[in-house]
Amino acid sequence: MAETIGHDDPLPKSVCPICGRHFVCGMEAGQEECWCMERPVLPLEAGEGGACLCPECFDRLISERTSREA
Ligand SMILES: [Zn+2]
Repeated sequence: MAETIGHDDPLPKSVCPICGRHFVCGMEAGQEECWCMERPVLPLEAGEGGACLCPECFDRLISERTSREA
């Protein structure tokens, strides 16, 4: 029997490179789907190595870019 780790979520957590918030990326958690697949593709700045952003920063970046195009 493995040691108990409180009541933690069993899914692996990713850390947002922008705000440092912990969040779950379905892709990194080994799932077939993720919330990010419902979002428009957002080309990340080079250097992040394709790191996933948390939903909050993701949506903020999208709204910033779309408002700039409008
Ligand atoms: Zn974030």
